[in-house]
This record gives sequence, C-alpha cells and structure tokens, in this order.
Amino acid sequence: MYLKDENATLKLGDKLAKSLPDGNVCIHLEGDLGAGKTTLVRGLLHALGHQGHVKSPTYTLIEKYSLPRGPVFHFDLYRLADPEELLYLGVDDIFAEQDALLIIEWPQQAGSLLPAPDLLIQLQYQPEGRELQFQAFSARGQEICEKLHK
Ligand code: ADP
Ligand code: MG
Repeated sequence: MYLKDENATLKLGDKLAKSLPDGNVCIHLEGDLGAGKTTLVRGLLHALGHQGHVKSPTYTLIEKYSLPRGPVFHFDLYRLADPEELLYLGVDDIFAEQDALLIIEWPQQAGSLLPAPDLLIQLQYQPEGRELQFQAFSARGQEICEKLHK
C-alpha cells in the first residue's frame, strides 16, 4: 500500500483503529528511523479517543493510554539494549492485561520476549511517500488486513 504523505499515514492509523476486533491485539511495526511508525500510531491513538500529544516513548520505551477500547501500550524499543531489560519494565503485567492493544515499534530489539503479533506492518521509504506491507499471523490479524484493504 502506497501512502503519499504524512496525512495519508495518519488516515491509515484512523482506519486501523476502526478495523480492530475487540480483545487483545498485538501489532508490530518495522521500518527505519523516520519511516512513519510513530505517525501511524498517532493517527491510531487519536481515532481511539486520545486527545492531545502523542510522544514517542524513545526513553521510557513504553507509554500507556487508557482509552474506551481498553488500555493501549505503545512501545518504542529502539533504545532497548538487552531484551531482558523489558522484564524490569513490568511487561509481564502488561501482557496479562485484558482487551489491551499492544503496538510495538522496533519489535526486533526484543528477541522472543514479546507476544506473537497478530499483524506485522513494515514501512519503507520511497522517494516521496512510504510503501507499507502487511503480514497477518492470526485470524484476527487477517481480519484487520481485510478491513484495511477495503
Ligand atoms: P518513525 O517513528 O518510524 O521513526 P516518525 O513517524 O516519527 O517515524 O517520523 C516520520 C516522518 O516522516 C515524519 O516527519 C512524518 O511527517 C513523515 N511521514 C510520515 N508518513 C509519511 C508518508 N506517507 N510520506 C511522507 N512522509 C511521511
Ligand atoms: Mg518512532
């Protein structure tokens, strides 16, 4: 899927929010620095009812939002030095939450310590915009993909 500008990325985030099934969902976002991962999360969070700023959890690594759908945990693991560090951030409790949405930038940094994703979105630079690829790893992920491509 080609997204021509920042606004298109924000709109996809909005559509993603509207395509989510109830319950636990885990989405992994892969792509270089500046590929648009946080922009996508911004569109998603606003559509889920978050008002105001979305900061990139560059140093805190995890940011929690309590929204009508349920808790949303935005991870940015770029600065994670060792996957074990995640355990000190209380991820066991996070992974046990009900109706949680996990949206994870740089999941590659965590080794095998994250729950399996329902959906992987890969973002790639193009001369102007960005090209996105979607890969579903569960029936729920498949469902999200189908709605996104409608
Ligand atoms: P990441 O979280 O992947 O490091 P950010 O979302 O923080 O990236 O930043 C991406 C930059 O690219 C921002 O300046 C944003 O305006 C821009 N951007 C986002 N989506 C697009 C797009 N589809 N086309 C062009 N620029 C985009
Ligand atoms: Mg980011």
